[in-house]
Amino acid sequence: MLETDVKTGQYMDPAQRLQRQLELLQATINRAHGTVPFYKNRFMENRAEPSSVESLDSIGRLPFTYRKDLAEHYPYGLFAVPLRDIVRIHTAPGLGVHPVVSGYTRQDLVIWREIATRALSTAGLGASDILQICLDPGLANWGRDYKDAAEALGASVIPLTSLSMEKQRMILADYKTSVLSTTPTFAVQLMNTLLASGVNPNELALRTLVLAGEPLTPETRQALEEGLHLTAWSHYGLSEVPGPGLAFECEEHHGLHLSEDHFLAEIVDPASGTPVPEGEEGELTLTTLTTRAFPLIRFRTGDRMRLIPEPCPCGRTLRRVQWLPGRLDDTVLIRGVKVHQDQILSHMSRVLSLVPRHFRFRPVRGETASGLEVWLGVDNDVFSDEVKILEGRVQAVSAALSQELGVPVSVRLKETTQMGPENQKWMPEAL
Ligand code: ZN
Repeated sequence: MLETDVKTGQYMDPAQRLQRQLELLQATINRAHGTVPFYKNRFMENRAEPSSVESLDSIGRLPFTYRKDLAEHYPYGLFAVPLRDIVRIHTAPGLGVHPVVSGYTRQDLVIWREIATRALSTAGLGASDILQICLDPGLANWGRDYKDAAEALGASVIPLTSLSMEKQRMILADYKTSVLSTTPTFAVQLMNTLLASGVNPNELALRTLVLAGEPLTPETRQALEEGLHLTAWSHYGLSEVPGPGLAFECEEHHGLHLSEDHFLAEIVDPASGTPVPEGEEGELTLTTLTTRAFPLIRFRTGDRMRLIPEPCPCGRTLRRVQWLPGRLDDTVLIRGVKVHQDQILSHMSRVLSLVPRHFRFRPVRGETASGLEVWLGVDNDVFSDEVKILEGRVQAVSAALSQELGVPVSVRLKETTQMGPENQKWMPEAL
């Protein structure tokens, strides 16, 4: 059934799709309510009955699910099937010490792979391509999905994470990579490195960029397409679950088609939670429709989106969204990975065995490198007479943060007098 859905799902008659979405939504709500205590309790607290959802619009009667709910039910608390039905378990960085754990049945994996396959084939990926995947460990789940999808399309895949810029550049040129999957931030840095080393873009086989993890601004798209003589395609996904092609660009490159055959999307006012008028900006909220193991109901993504009401000239009937820069929750995106200050603080406290009182963070986006920079204030608690001990603390904190967050982290010791007010944790980016 799914093999054909990949095609028909995109072009389904809108009225038919709405009917199908409603049936899938009701089934999802009933299953989540019946099998996941979290949903049952959350519904009860909000006096919401699964049977009250009689139409797609009435989904607003159900409570939201937040990112912190995923972290609080570590590891298997939100699974809707017994563990014996789970065939794969993924972890992604969570908001606190625990990661977010998601599980997949065999059928879930088939669906996710087909979502990613559809997104990649729309970007033109085929059997003659060599796909290089270059995503940080924090986005490893997407790397796996892209790999599976590209293999299904017959492409050759070079699945790489955590390699230095120099190695990525070498492989890109020597292995004749034709499609590169990465984040916009890394793509720009790679372009700068390539151009600085005198590479002529016409001598590269690279013709396609598949960019995930961060919104692609018109300026960045133009710089990449003109600088490297290729076409860039933007993909959207949730880092907590696989599915990097949850929304994807078509050949029109005007907004991203939402995979509405597998998700119900709402755009809500981030403050009130009520739906915004069609075409206005708000927060994307997603409900899974076909997921068996790890259903999400009204999940607040924190991503800024605007629905594009007009039908797309490409003929796909999946509605489009415009993905806007900036976030609506208190996380920041670092190379596509969401990072929250509580997460940094809890890992630092664990490693140092104390809660540091003076610290600041900032995302660093340089010409050729990026990541997270942490300033740790040297007060009486952190201070040691021995330089070796201090250096050891710095190394331990940066190693733990790099590993847990899945992005490069550098830690610097600072005099507390240099650090400004204690309650301000994120530094302005321009600093
Ligand atoms: Zn289209």
